[in-house]
Amino acid sequence: MLDSTLQATYDQVLHRNPGEPEFHQAVREVFESLEVVQSRHPEYQDHSILMRLCEPERQIIFRVPWVDDDGVVQVNRGFRVEYNSALGPYKGGLRFHPSVNLGIVKFLGFEQIFKNSLTGLPIGGGKGGSDFDPHGRSDGEIMRFCQSFMTELHRHMGEYTDVPAGDIGVGAREIGYLFGQYKRLTNRYEAGVLTGKGLDWGGSLVRKEATGYGAAIFADEMLKANGSSFDGRRVAVSGSGNVAIYAIEKVRQLGGIPVTASDSTGYVVDENGVDLALLQQIKEVERGRIVEYAERRGNGARFVANGSVWDVPVDIALPCATQNELNVEDARTLVKNGVLAVSEGANMPCTPEAVAVFREADVRYGPGKAANAGGVATSALEMQQNASRDAWSFEHTEERLTQIMKGIHTTCLETADEFGRPGDYALGANVAGFRKVADAMIAFGVI
Ligand code: GLU
Repeated sequence: MLDSTLQATYDQVLHRNPGEPEFHQAVREVFESLEVVQSRHPEYQDHSILMRLCEPERQIIFRVPWVDDDGVVQVNRGFRVEYNSALGPYKGGLRFHPSVNLGIVKFLGFEQIFKNSLTGLPIGGGKGGSDFDPHGRSDGEIMRFCQSFMTELHRHMGEYTDVPAGDIGVGAREIGYLFGQYKRLTNRYEAGVLTGKGLDWGGSLVRKEATGYGAAIFADEMLKANGSSFDGRRVAVSGSGNVAIYAIEKVRQLGGIPVTASDSTGYVVDENGVDLALLQQIKEVERGRIVEYAERRGNGARFVANGSVWDVPVDIALPCATQNELNVEDARTLVKNGVLAVSEGANMPCTPEAVAVFREADVRYGPGKAANAGGVATSALEMQQNASRDAWSFEHTEERLTQIMKGIHTTCLETADEFGRPGDYALGANVAGFRKVADAMIAFGVI
């Protein structure tokens, strides 16, 4: 239940944004944490901060026509939601996936505001993408799609305006085609306008690894705060994209045993610990399916079609696939199997009912906007390097990332304590992320 003022604002959000369940879910989750803030800070209510925060500053929807390899004209829909620029230029990824619609982009953009605030770096919140399905498309088709997408989007971008990056379906290859087209259209080598770039043309070391590394580091901090560690513990990771692969790598470095990976067709269990090189070969190089991992690995690794990866008994869970991938049944199974901590590498992977189960069972739960902030934080470090025309070493950049993740962990814990909810990382993340944005918005007046 929300209190009456929050409920009234939430009702208005529902009324104004019909048919966008993921967006409603993301807003409600934040509102539930803000109850404690409303009473202590009446100024936020006086300035209608929440209503303003829920309304994106700008929403751009555009046609993306392109020609496929058979010469057939295809049409997709492009989005960029420039959500909030109180703390810096709009910053957030682009997602290319058939499930993308305005509600999905708004949920992701809304989450991004708080996540980016938590990093402590000067970045506002935004998100974009398209319902384009890259799966099975040739390199030429991907390039033509990206060029058409950028032909429209470029007029809204700028290193001081809006700085996109990758998300699901958008990696270094797509960022290359997008950057190339931006550069051609504007006749400017404006490196800081996109992040996740290749290392030879303005990219940052550690950016590729950062989201997964960060989610594992956040889990490690939660474990340590409870007198525990990764040492010898079994870890379930879902997904097999960029976030999952580097979460697996960092879990190993921290002493844990990652035993799973998954994709939309099913999951693999590898009791000997996931072979990272093989997973990378199949997923990053060949862009193949996870079943091939079990076939080629032998050695006791098995593939389970469909089923839930959360059925595998583990001590720590890192959901690194997509939104609402871990439901209440999964949460109950994990709790029954004695899970200690859940750290979200993906955005909003646990349903609200699943989170309630973790809370009830006193499982440490690191919400995505804190636990997966390492990706966007390292994007901001990429922007810093671009602005100073510099390139940092892997060690230095990784050290910055580690310190940022530790800082976010501490901020969440301290804020949760301040509001009488010790150990509630979700509350800490929402409140701490919100306060900075709200205070900046008040300072700027009614804009
Ligand atoms: N898409 C990533 C996220 O969800 C990274 C965004 C960025 O680097 O701008 O935070």
